[in-house]
Amino acid sequence: MNHFELQGGELTCEDVPLSAIAAEVGTPVYVYSSATLERHYTVLRESLVDAGLGDPLIAFAVKANSNVAVLRTLAQLGAGADVVSEGEIRRALAAGVPPERIVFSGVGKTEAEVAFAMQTGVAEINVESEPELHMVNGVAQLMGARAAVAIRVNPDVAAGGHAKISTGKADNKFGVSLAEAERLYANAANMAGVRPVGVACHIGSQITDLAPLEAAFGKMRSLVERLRAEGHDVERLDLGGGLGVPYFNQPEPPAPAAYAAMIARTMQGLDDIQYAFEPGRMIAANAGVLVARVLHVNARPEGRRFLVLDAAMNDLLRPAMYDAYHDIRPVKPRDGDPVIYDVVGPVCETGDTFTRDRALPPLEAGDLIAFMSAGAYGAAMASEYNSRLLAPEVLVRGAEWAIVRPRPSYDDMLGRERPAPWF
Ligand code: PLP
Repeated sequence: MNHFELQGGELTCEDVPLSAIAAEVGTPVYVYSSATLERHYTVLRESLVDAGLGDPLIAFAVKANSNVAVLRTLAQLGAGADVVSEGEIRRALAAGVPPERIVFSGVGKTEAEVAFAMQTGVAEINVESEPELHMVNGVAQLMGARAAVAIRVNPDVAAGGHAKISTGKADNKFGVSLAEAERLYANAANMAGVRPVGVACHIGSQITDLAPLEAAFGKMRSLVERLRAEGHDVERLDLGGGLGVPYFNQPEPPAPAAYAAMIARTMQGLDDIQYAFEPGRMIAANAGVLVARVLHVNARPEGRRFLVLDAAMNDLLRPAMYDAYHDIRPVKPRDGDPVIYDVVGPVCETGDTFTRDRALPPLEAGDLIAFMSAGAYGAAMASEYNSRLLAPEVLVRGAEWAIVRPRPSYDDMLGRERPAPWF
């Protein structure tokens, strides 16, 4: 469920017409709904608690939407943060996420990032390989500290909506095998600079079927039992993120309650463990839209009809990168039969095509459209490719709205560069 509805013949975010935001801020612009963010977080948390999974740590995956106002909205409900860089740690802290709710993931952390994470006091560093375990141990010892680590396991289960976002197969770069996890856990327990507190997995993103998750979680449960049988303390089991969202033309993903029930079933009898989750997409995707304006309709005499927008692949990369589908809705739908469009942006690449042969209500130059479900991996993946300014971000709450990242100026863009001394 989300809070983007037609009211009085035009698309609104909560009680704010998208056209009012576009008129003041310009387009393209990302618009987020606080109510949808809050609802998704709360439904997930209540589902997990109701299923008997204790007091889980729900660490929002900052990579999905790293806007500090979005993070603060979730932090105020008690959310933690799953981060993959020093920049993301800084964003989480700036949003008021307590360090003890921050989980630091990623296959390539630098020594400086690990030192920063430790100074900050993050809950756990998810170690993804043996060299990284030694690196964290070394950094911690230099600091005279002991880092709480979880071993990220690659359970060798195929999942995820696209090969580029599948992370849990043995040949993906993430994590260590189950057997390696046992060995590394035992090694870590004997290291002066680390304290193993748990195990973690994340098998992919946009997963619309519980079966691969259940297979992976079953393996994680057995691993925890084996580690405990060997005499190790295992306090936390991090089950990652990955649950998909309905992008309109895809299989309906499982409801959070079904997900929670599956976990409760899989973990039945496993006591004294805190569960951690790293959801990104399921919290943020349907809480955001990208609003763009039609620059013109290029109806070729030979047949194809291109809807040329002022938003491009640099603003919303998912269609070009993952062949992703986004529902496209006119902000003020016109009457008339649907028309078949190829929807494209102004970037100089054929890849800058959001969709082909899409039947949409009739549109004209100057009309506004919204890319739905753009709140996750939208603004966070945007770039200035073609020297296009980053789209601003707006957060709505009821009838109020605020610009939470303004559109930069061209001076801002050029001001980041410096002439070389020989010019
Ligand atoms: N945790 C880790 C380690 C990830 O790599 C990702 C995404 O790739 C996530 C969490 C968030 O996944 P999702 O947005 O599908 O919930």
